[in-house]
This record gives sequence, structure tokens and C-alpha cells, in this order.
Amino acid sequence: AQVPVNVTVTGAAGQIGYALLFRIASGQLLGADTPVKLRLLEIPQAVKAAEGTAMELDDCAFPLLQGIDIFDNPGQAFEGSNVALLVGARPRTKGMERGDLLEANGGIFKPQGEAINAGAADDIRVLVVGNPANTNALIAQAHAPDVPAERFTAMTRLDHNRALTQLAKKLGVSINEIKKLTIWGNHSATQYPDIFHAEVNGTTGAKAVGDQAWLENEFIPTVAKRGAAIIEARGASSAASAANAAIDHVYDWVNGTPEGDWTSAAIPSDGSYGVPPGLISSFPVVSRDGRWEIVQGLDIDDFSRSRIDASVQELVEERDAVKKLGLV
Ligand code: NDP
Repeated sequence: AQVPVNVTVTGAAGQIGYALLFRIASGQLLGADTPVKLRLLEIPQAVKAAEGTAMELDDCAFPLLQGIDIFDNPGQAFEGSNVALLVGARPRTKGMERGDLLEANGGIFKPQGEAINAGAADDIRVLVVGNPANTNALIAQAHAPDVPAERFTAMTRLDHNRALTQLAKKLGVSINEIKKLTIWGNHSATQYPDIFHAEVNGTTGAKAVGDQAWLENEFIPTVAKRGAAIIEARGASSAASAANAAIDHVYDWVNGTPEGDWTSAAIPSDGSYGVPPGLISSFPVVSRDGRWEIVQGLDIDDFSRSRIDASVQELVEERDAVKKLGLV
């Protein structure tokens, strides 16, 4: 029998956790042949709720699920962990300054990075979902010096999937007809969804649309502000779609991206496309042999350049702010 993969999920009792755990346990995170053990981390007040979710997981009788453990202590939660999904974070509340937000999240992601460094398995892969995701990933990575930096990533796959659907709807094509779309930069309102390199039935996404005003005034803001639109409509933030994107990100990281396509993920920069080395920024990426690689050699025109630079500048400011706080 195959050795189960240990998957740690933080914020497990939250709404993304609720949408995520059942899909992990059913085999959608790693593949239909890979058994999993879940290690759930919650804050003490939410452990009871996590126990309730664990009861429901039991009641699904998933053949691949070989165990569920619940912790309120990161040291234990990351012990032997092969995949870590860092979902729990301190959300921004009304009137909260960015510095306060970053500091509160430092209190979460620093000890988690330390625990990953101390106890995770050698092949640990980390995906940060909790916002501000890119900078939270940077904080965790800074406290895990023995883990290769490339194992720390942040999620822009939801932005990528949102952009795919918006473009498909505009062009009246199916999702399958669109390849090579890119989200650049930060998972925030400054993100840049790029359709200039996207391929749609033998032309580019931008040429197929042929309407720069739509691109600037509709497409980019719709993708970047989709989270707020969902809160407005649903009365609660997106959860199932965020969980779905986390599944897509890890599945591709482990199993590879399809030939002839790429996806988007925030990974540590190697300096490609002028993004300062070390920043965890979203790029066009392929996954080969279990590693993300940045797609090289794309021509970036002036419009794209200015959008990428603005989002990367925001990441630089977030990094400088957490540096000042002694968090990286
Ligand atoms: P959610 O499960 O809805 O969201 C969790 C995090 O994911 C938030 O930081 C949220 O950011 C972020 N996120 C990223 N992308 C998206 C997206 N597209 N849509 C929505 N959220 C997104 O939050 P809940 O409040 O339901 O649950 C959080 C849980 O985490 C709670 O149970 C809490 O106890 C726990 N927690 C655990 C910690 C730990 O394990 N150490 C630490 C802190 C909290 P944003 O707020 O910006 O939407």
C-alpha cells in the first residue's frame, strides 16, 4: 500500500476550510490513487468546530482518508507535513492600517514558518491562501531557512481562473480554448491579468477581444474586484472557489501542468521580468518534475510593463513594512 501524504490545513474550521477538506479527502488534491492524512490546525476557540468538520469527514467514509488529527499548536500540526495549506489568517477589519494587518499576520506566519522548518517532511510544499497571501508566504519562508525557498508559494490561481472565465464569456468560447493566460504580481487589487500572451484559437486573447477599453475598464477591474462583488452578492466571501483554486495549484505543482499551456502562481522571484529576487510574486509558470518554473522570454509591452511594475511595487512596500517590523 502507498504511504499516505500528510496534508496540514490551517484555519481548518473556517469557510474555505469547509470547502477544501472534503475535496482533499476525496483525492482531488493529489490524485485518485494517493492516500492522505489530514492534520488540522486551529486557534483554541475553533478546535471544537474543527472536530465537527472531522466528524463529517468520518461520515463520508472516504477510502483515501487514513486519519485526521486536530491541533492548536503549529509545532505539532506541521510534524511530518508533506503539503501545507495555510488558510487561517488575520483578516483586515474596518479602520485597520496595513502595518497593523501585517504585524497581526506576522504573529501567525512566523511561528508557522518556524514549525515547518523544525518538523515538516523534506519534500514539504507550502501554499499560502490567507491574506495578504504573498507577504504572509514571505514571512513564513523567512523563518524556515532550512527549507528551499521555492517551496513557499502564494495563491493567485483563483485570480487566474476568474480571468479565464471572464475572457471566455467575452469571446463566447469555452475555457478549454484559452491557453497561457497570466496573473502577474500581488494577490490584491493591483494584480495584472495579462491576455496579451494568452492563446485563443490561433490568435492572442488581446487581438481576439480587439478592444483596449474593455481590457482596461472592464476586464482588469472585474477580475481584480471579483472578491468584493461576491461578498456583495452572497453576503459572505468566496470560499468554494478559493478552495477550488488551492486544489488546482497543489494538484498542478505535484502532477505537472499540461503541455502547451501554463498557469499562474506566486513563487519566489529569481529576478525574471525585473521582479526583485526573493519577492513572492505571481508569474506565468509551468510545473515540471514537481517544481514550478517561470516561463521565460515573453515580450512585455509598455502597458503590461507599467501594470506589472505597479503591483510589484506594492509587494516591495509590503516587504519593506514587514522588514521594519523585524518579520523577515
Ligand atoms: P475564510 O476561510 O473565508 O478565509 C481564510 C483566509 O483566506 C482569509 O485570510 C481570507 O482573506 C483568505 N482568502 C484568500 N483568498 C480568498 C478568496 N478568494 N476568498 C475568500 N477568502 C480568501 O475565513 P474564515 O474566517 O471563515 O475562517 C478562518 C479560520 O482561520 C477561522 O476558523 C480561524 O479560527 C482560523 N485561524 C486559524 C489560525 C491558525 O490556524 N493559526 C490563525 C488565524 C485564524 P480575506 O480576509 O482577505 O478575504
